[in-house]
Amino acid sequence: MATGPVTRSAVAQSQPTAADLASVRVALTAAKGRKVALGTALDALRDGRLTAAERHAIMALVHAVKMLRERAALNGVDDAGAGVELLLRDTDANERGPWATTGQIAVGARNGLATRRGSAARADVLLTVDAAVHELTHVVQFGRMSTKAKPHPALLEGIADAAAILATGDDTLGEEFFNVDASGRYRGSIRELGAHTTTGPALGHVITNYHDAVRPGTEEHAGGGVVAATFMQVRARLGRERAEQLLWAVIRDTAAWNMGGSWKDLVLSLRRQVAAVWAGDTAAASAVEAALSSTALDAAAR
Ligand SMILES: [Zn+2]
Repeated sequence: MATGPVTRSAVAQSQPTAADLASVRVALTAAKGRKVALGTALDALRDGRLTAAERHAIMALVHAVKMLRERAALNGVDDAGAGVELLLRDTDANERGPWATTGQIAVGARNGLATRRGSAARADVLLTVDAAVHELTHVVQFGRMSTKAKPHPALLEGIADAAAILATGDDTLGEEFFNVDASGRYRGSIRELGAHTTTGPALGHVITNYHDAVRPGTEEHAGGGVVAATFMQVRARLGRERAEQLLWAVIRDTAAWNMGGSWKDLVLSLRRQVAAVWAGDTAAASAVEAALSSTALDAAAR
């Protein structure tokens, strides 16, 4: 009988399948930047060289893979079904946190947030499930884009944030990188896209109006808030399942990304996918238009 502590994520998640474990391959950065392959997630979890924090990071990504397979029918990061590589002990990630490139997500040997003075971050959390969904969405985006495509960075960030909050049902990103206080509430987060749920400040702020997001010098994660806010408005009108269905149709709309990935391309893709996914449903189409108008994102296509 299970009598140990039950975490919120354990309750929310069923067990990943053998295919989920096999679709994550793990490697680590050794001395002089040499990359050592450890095999599948299952192989790596049995590897005595890894720390508990690294095993948790592997499981966070495996859960993200499982979640997107179940919720978005994602089978691999490209149309050929390729898996994703998790690179451990990446020196860049030690400073800037987890990051994604084509086919790969990199995490550090420590949580870079925890080294800041007075930080409420936990040194031993290298990747959370929502951060893994965010990074995995980037890998899917990169896998569907020509190498010449240069989409607006805020669009990539906003879509990855929207994918994370719609998959997990939690509008606060990355709070599990932080400690909890005596009342059990997290003491920080990466971004709060909905109501403030933690007792500490979020690392980054969020912009929810298109005209503010396109001001010169806007940081891309902040600017991406407009995309997430628009999908949250779709969710408020059509529900989480349909908002997520539309989001993944847009992510898979390679035309939008290879045409240039501008704010206008995003709006046109949304309208194209509404017509494709919910043909003839004028109520759904007006709900999406109302969502676009609520963040002024419709102005991008005028
Ligand atoms: Zn990102």
